[in-house]
Parts: sequence; structure tokens; C-alpha cells
Amino acid sequence: MPASNEKKRIQFALGKTADWGPPFPYHFAAAIRPRVAHEIVLSVTAMNTISISRRDFARLLGAGTAAALVRPADSFGKQPEHVSTDGQVVRLSANENAYGPSPKALKAMTDSFTLACRYPDEHNNVLIDKLAKLNDVHRDQILLGDGSSEILKLCTETFTDKEGGSLVSADPTFEAILEQAKTNGAEVLKVPLTSTYAHDLPRMLSSAKGGLIYICNPNNPTASITLKDELRDFIAKTPPEIMLLVDEAYFHFADSPDYESVIPLVKEYPNLIVARTFSKIYGMAGLRCGYCVAQKQTIDRMRSRQMWDSVNIMALVAASASLDDPDQVPNGHRLNKEARTFTIGELEKLGYKTIPSHANFIMFDCKRPVVPLIEAIKQQNVHVGRLFPALPNHMRVTIGKKREMESFVAAFQQVTA
Ligand code: PLP
Repeated sequence: MPASNEKKRIQFALGKTADWGPPFPYHFAAAIRPRVAHEIVLSVTAMNTISISRRDFARLLGAGTAAALVRPADSFGKQPEHVSTDGQVVRLSANENAYGPSPKALKAMTDSFTLACRYPDEHNNVLIDKLAKLNDVHRDQILLGDGSSEILKLCTETFTDKEGGSLVSADPTFEAILEQAKTNGAEVLKVPLTSTYAHDLPRMLSSAKGGLIYICNPNNPTASITLKDELRDFIAKTPPEIMLLVDEAYFHFADSPDYESVIPLVKEYPNLIVARTFSKIYGMAGLRCGYCVAQKQTIDRMRSRQMWDSVNIMALVAASASLDDPDQVPNGHRLNKEARTFTIGELEKLGYKTIPSHANFIMFDCKRPVVPLIEAIKQQNVHVGRLFPALPNHMRVTIGKKREMESFVAAFQQVTA
């Protein structure tokens, strides 16, 4: 194998680095044998990849449990599906945070390796207390989930059913909850977005038959917002027997004066549930941690259907530490905005108009069926979002680092030339 390939595989085995803070593997190594970690020269190049000699790598592997913590030997030959064999895939398909978790989260995880043998109760409580304080609610108004996906699933299981508890959603929107409601036997009613890609709230309300209305704000896949005044008015008008789930997964990226979180309204409305996640601005998609805010009786109903201890201890300590990092949210917001502005500008130069984005992804009209373009771009090692059938000529692209967006623009230009 050529030396450069071997180096790339070692880089892959060690994992990605964050754009701020020390590289991820440093934390692993430091937690295991601090002296070895300090001695090993991990030189961070301009591209922010890690360069490490074979001898140093062997020493790292020799550091006791370190061998168990890096990927097993067979993973050198067997890459996950989303990583090409040369490690050059640009992954802009899942609205992840390319910059990674907070350095404080990484440290908290390495510091807690020895806690892996304990159930996570205390750490659960610590995170709940922090989230209650952050959102100015009582701790019994918070429910943690194994990602906000678990919160969405619990909502469908608790509030929809085949005896009239329908699910009303926008079209297009984040589909996971639609599938879960169908599995639960519920009728799913999809209401097209308005011409400005907002939720058509009056139509959603008139379509509802008990059950649950799902509002994704900012909306995935369009990255558009539903105006705060309209949403507030709609929440006030919705009869209390219809539950409302407002999914604020992309809350931290939205800075429009026309946008606001509806968490402060939970105190007033017993039928309101607001979901949040640590997968987006906090860069913890692989760790799985989310939560919701709702009144106590709603939380109690949902919790009764939840698996005990569904959030693992690593995710809990990382989430808690992330909340203590004053830089994570502003840095993530700024870097996303810079790369997003660049990408939108480049697409405009090519004659493509983007739906105004309030999230860490964009959607634009590519003026032809998107499916062949998605496939063609994949051949260039750039992965973009899937087809959303309601908008068959629109492409959803996650905003990654600027150089990743340059790769996307180049690939898009090439396949549309
Ligand atoms: N809600 C929306 C709107 C999303 O886009 C996603 C994931 O992309 C989720 C929820 C699920 O996120 P989590 O990783 O917290 O399960």
C-alpha cells in the first residue's frame, strides 16, 4: 500500500478533528496515558487533519486500553458506507455539524470513561437541572431523549392512534415522525407549505382531528421559518385536546427578528411540547441526546412509555459540558453563516435561487429533476440531501466547512455544465 494511503487510513482510524480545540484523539490518548499523549506529536496541518508517524501510532496502540479505543484493526479495510475508500467524501447530506462537539464535551467524555460501568441517573439529573435553568422552567417540565428522534417517537406513541388521533404535518417536512405515526396506525394528513415555505397554520388547524400537529420551525428540508406572530396566534387558537409539537432542532441557527422559540409559551399551554436536540449546533449527532419542554402532566404521559435510562452517560456528560461552553453556539452560528453566505452567493452567480435559509442547510431550485443530480454529484464524492417528493426539483445541501462547500459548488457546476 502506498505510504500516503496508509497515512490516510491512520487518520481515518483516529477520527476527525474539531476546528477549534485540540484534536479528538488527543483527548482519548490523554485520558488513557497522559504522558504518551503529550509525547506523541500530533501535528495539525493547515487542513486540520492529523499527521502521526507509524512508530508513534504503534506507541499509541501500545498504550494499554488505547488499543480498544481506536477503531478495531478490521475497520482499516472495511470503511462505513458513507466514507469512500480514499476518505475524501464530502458529506453534506444529514444536516450535521462539521466542526464537531465542544472541546469541553470531548474532555468531559474522556474524563468519564471510568463511569461507563454506572447507570446514568445522577448525570441525567445534572443535565435536566441545567436545561430547566436555561429554559426557565421547572425540572419536571423536561424530558431527555435518545436524540430528539426519541422525543418525536414518544409524541406519536402517546398522542396519535388509529381511533382518531391523527398526525397533521407540513409537506415537505422532517419525515421521521410521519412514518412513526403511520406505524402507530394513525392517519397522517399532510398540508403543503405556503408560497413562502411557511407552515400553512390555518389549514393545518382545520385538518386536525384530535391527535397531534407537528410544526418544524425552522423547517427541514426547506430551512424556512414560520413567523413568530402567526405561530403564537395559532398556539392560542388550537383547542387544548389537540397536542402541538414544535420541533426546534435548528433553533440556534435562526436569527431573524421574525423568528422566536415557543418554549416560553409552555407555561400557558398544556397542549404544547417543544423539542430540541444536541445533534445540530452542539455537534453531537452520533452521541444521541435531545429533550423536550412541556407541562408536567404531558411529560409524565410521555415518560411512562419511555425506556428507562435511554440516554447514555457519554451523551449526558457531553451535553452538560456543551452547555457550559460559552463559545459553542456563537462559533457554530458564525461559521455556519459564513459558509452559507458563500454557498448561496456562488449558486446565485450560477443562476440558482435559494429559499431564504435559517438553518445549517439550504434548499434551492435546481431547475430540473433533482434525483439524477444527486446521483451525479455522488460520483464526484459529494453527498447531498435525498429527494423530498413535494419539491422534486429542489436540492437540500447541508452547510459544511467552507472548503467542503467549495467542493460542492465545483461538483454541482461540473454535473450541470
Ligand atoms: N428534528 C428535525 C427537524 C431534524 O432535522 C432531525 C434530524 O435531522 C431530528 C429532529 C432528529 O435529530 P436527533 O439527532 O436529535 O434525533
